[in-house]
Amino acid sequence: MISVRHLSKKFGENVVLDDVSFDIEKGDVIAIIGPSGTGKSTLLRCLDLLEHPEEGSLSFDEENYDLPKLDKKGTRSLTRRTAMVFQSFNLFERKTALQNVMEALLLVQKKDKEKAREIAVARLTEVGLADKLDYYPKHLSGGQQQRVAIARALALQPELIYMDEPTSALDPELVNEVLDTIKLIAKQGNTLLLVSHEMQFVKNVATKVIFLEGGKIIEKGTTEQIFEDPKNERTKQFLARNNIHPGPEYTI
Ligand code: ADP
Ligand code: MG
Repeated sequence: MISVRHLSKKFGENVVLDDVSFDIEKGDVIAIIGPSGTGKSTLLRCLDLLEHPEEGSLSFDEENYDLPKLDKKGTRSLTRRTAMVFQSFNLFERKTALQNVMEALLLVQKKDKEKAREIAVARLTEVGLADKLDYYPKHLSGGQQQRVAIARALALQPELIYMDEPTSALDPELVNEVLDTIKLIAKQGNTLLLVSHEMQFVKNVATKVIFLEGGKIIEKGTTEQIFEDPKNERTKQFLARNNIHPGPEYTI
């Protein structure tokens, strides 16, 4: 079990996350939904220590990480348990797909070259890129680049994978191949915390949903609960704006 507790983050006077707490169980696919500017990216970035929250902890089973107080060793320990897939892929432009996936296996996990290559080829094959191993990012489509980034995250065997709107930088015709890849890795039992505005995808793939607004969790529950029977007026409004209309006529 992974727990987030009392996560709070300000930018100057702007309170962006206000005492956010929730649990993640192994194999959960948790979608964070909510209006733009509401703190979704900041939430993932705080958990991944790309931002520094004023308060908050993340625990993996018995191991608790007090985020504002982590030293170098704690930071390293925590970031090795997680991986992030960014909106804009963040691949190394001067490395091939294979080298991008091998990089952290060699540098962070200190795998030997042969083993790193073996893992990287396997993960790239899984995401459908076996024939693109030696391609540089600029010769890959956005969808292919994002699949390399997903393979890179998977290769590290993280206990938790963060994804921040992984399809929002893509041309519409490339969105589905990436959503299919995410669906595949969800089915494999990976634990995902993802920010998405693809409501149909969230409905189909997420096990739980968190509705965040103004830096606060307004409502959380199973996907079915949130989509079919939202309790909070703001959740209802948000879903309606996104063409999700709960009610008797609504079927999955
Ligand atoms: P979302 O991902 O839900 O659209 P963000 O987490 O990106 O929202 O942003 C939440 C709020 O925090 C916004 O008001 C945004 O302007 C502010 N914010 C985000 N990053 C920074 C930053 N580095 N410095 C100052 N303000 C920021
Ligand atoms: Mg965002």
